[in-house]
Order: sequence, then C-alpha cells, then structure tokens
Amino acid sequence: AGAGGPRPIAKLPQHVVNRIAAGEIIQRPSNALKELIENSLDAGATTIRITVKEGGLKLLQIQDNGSGIRKDDLPILCERFTTSKIKAFEDLSSLGTYGFRGEALASISHVAHLSVTTKTREETCAWKAAYSDGVMIPVKSGSSDASPIPCAGNDGTVLVVEDLFFNTPQRLKALRSASDEYARIVQVVLSYSIHNAGIGMSCRKASSGPSNATADINTSVGASALDNIGLHYGDAVKRELVEVTAESSDPNVRIKAWCSGANYQGKKGTYLFFINNRLVDCSPLKRALEAFYGTLLAKGTHPFVYLSLDIDPTKIDVNVHPTKKEVGFEDEEEIVQLVCEKLAEKLAEQGESRSYKVQT
Ligand code: ADP
Ligand code: MG
Repeated sequence: AGAGGPRPIAKLPQHVVNRIAAGEIIQRPSNALKELIENSLDAGATTIRITVKEGGLKLLQIQDNGSGIRKDDLPILCERFTTSKIKAFEDLSSLGTYGFRGEALASISHVAHLSVTTKTREETCAWKAAYSDGVMIPVKSGSSDASPIPCAGNDGTVLVVEDLFFNTPQRLKALRSASDEYARIVQVVLSYSIHNAGIGMSCRKASSGPSNATADINTSVGASALDNIGLHYGDAVKRELVEVTAESSDPNVRIKAWCSGANYQGKKGTYLFFINNRLVDCSPLKRALEAFYGTLLAKGTHPFVYLSLDIDPTKIDVNVHPTKKEVGFEDEEEIVQLVCEKLAEKLAEQGESRSYKVQT
C-alpha cells in the first residue's frame, strides 16, 4: 500500500459480501430477536416464548404458535431475499407485515448457527432443519443429508440461534457485556408486549440447573396495553397515565398513546414509539415531547410515553435503515405538532376534572 499506482479492484467473494451485509442488519442480539419476534407476529402467533443464554450471544430461542413454515419452503428459508410477504416492489406501499425483505433469517444464518423446528396445522409431524451461510445443512453433524428431518413438535415454529457472531470476532469483542445485551433484549420484548398486548409473551434466561428460571417478562393472553405497562413499569406509573386517542385526515394519522401527566416525575424518561406497528426511534418526536414535558415537569424529571402512530403506508419509508429502526415519513412536522396538541388537550381536560373533583 501507499506509494505507487492504484491497486486493482477485485470482486469480494460472495460469503464475504454476505457476512458484511448481515452485520449491518444484525448488529447485536436484540436486533436479531426483534426480527424473530416480528416473524412470529407476522405468522399470527398468540404466544411467543423467548429463552436467552449469555445475553443472546450463546443462545436465542424463540418459540411461537403461529402458522408454521411449509416443509417445501425449508430449503430456501434462509436464502437472501426469499419472502412470503411481498411479491412486487409496489407491495411495499400497502405493507401489512413487519417483514418484507426476506433478509433476517439469511443474515442470521451468516453470523450464527441457526436451526428451525416447525409444524403447520396440516402436517402430522414437525420438521427440523439447520442452516449455515444461507443454505440448508445436515441437522446431524457427520451426516451428508441436508434434508429436513421429521420430529415431534407443536404447531408453530421454534427458532434457535446459537453462537451469534462466532465468525465475526471484532463484533463479538465490541459486545462484551452479556448483561447489557440481555437488558436490551428485555427492552425489546417488553416494548412489543405492550404494543401487542393480548399476546402471551415471555422472556427468560435459560437455566442450567434443574430449576426453571422464572421469567423476567410474562404477559397474559388477553391482557391490555395498560395491564402490561403496569406489569413492567409498576402501578405507580400505570396510575398516572392518560389515554390519548385522535384521528386526523390532514395530516393523515391515527394516534394512540398512554402518557404520564404533571403528577408523574420519572428519574429517567421512557419513550416507546411505534409507527405503523414498528418499534422505532424517532428523534423529532422525542425532542418535541421532551420540550413539551419540559414546560410541565420539574427540572430533572421525565415522563412515560407509549405512543403508536398509524400513518398512510404510502407516506412512510420503512426501507431507510438496515435495522428498520428508523423510518422516514411525510408530514413529519405536522404530525409531531398534532401529537403534542392532543396530549396538551387531554392533560388540560384531566387537570380540570381533577380540580373539579377537589372543589366538590
Ligand atoms: P421476511 O420476514 O422479510 O419475509 P425473514 O428472513 O424474516 O424475511 O423470513 C423469511 C420467511 O420465513 C418469511 O417470509 C416467512 O414466510 C418465514 N418465517 C420466518 N419466521 C417464521 C415464523 N416464526 N413462522 C412462520 N414463518 C416464518
Ligand atoms: Mg422477517
């Protein structure tokens, strides 16, 4: 390197390309888990059980009671850009599922050991398959037969991700703390369990001994969003929340939220944002809410906000970020302003009824 002419340009081997691309989509265990939860939700699951070892770096297991995967689809399950969810680019504008790129399982298979046991309602037994670098490999080491093997199993799917980033040591080194990764995992499960209240979701650390580790999250089938907020954040938070709902045609948006009022003074802020059912970071929204609460709360105290926005799918671009963590949408300013207005209205209303109650 250095002096001399330019070095020749050469095409990277496909497996290197795939591993680099996978690292962009799956940045840490909680990203992988988010994709897996979304797949279970897309499959219509009503229960989702998650088991984790070493912050997800050793094991991430997710079991759902969704549709299952057809046996005939197993050979291409982890190929890049294979999906059952869209067929044409135009379908993105009416997306009704979380997934659409067919990249999650492929990506995971490039940076971890992945196996799946799945059963559709029609099958009489479950099928197990294993994957590496996008292709199906023999389930039993030593065997040369890569076809899925029949086994016992419930309706639905169990996905097992082991040794995440075993082949990308730099990434592994950057993620030193299993407890930090586990905290992120719990945060993802918790957020989804609030937004998808009614679905039974659990998350636990795998126990090595005979005693079953108690779940860190365990929501009930049929619970409400508020129930699950109370479960995770405590009754003191739950008691102070008001529900904000609004619908508007210009800007075109439906707002649903549970937000704390003037009485709640959190040591740190909790902001859970969902846009078209997708857990996202939305800095404009967060900044606006921080400013709003800044005028309402004592210095150094913060609100709880769970906010769900439904926006016209044609006005939203979910494909702006590899982890889909950020989304872009039209009328952002107007929508953010509307959220703050509706919240202010609701809190004012509530304030009135409170002082009214005190007066009588
Ligand atoms: P995408 O979700 O974008 O389609 P994925 O790589 O996440 O891509 O999944 C590929 C396909 O595998 C999905 O389209 C779906 O058909 C199937 N699949 C993945 N996970 C599940 C699951 N838990 N239950 C049923 N089908 C699943
Ligand atoms: Mg998916």
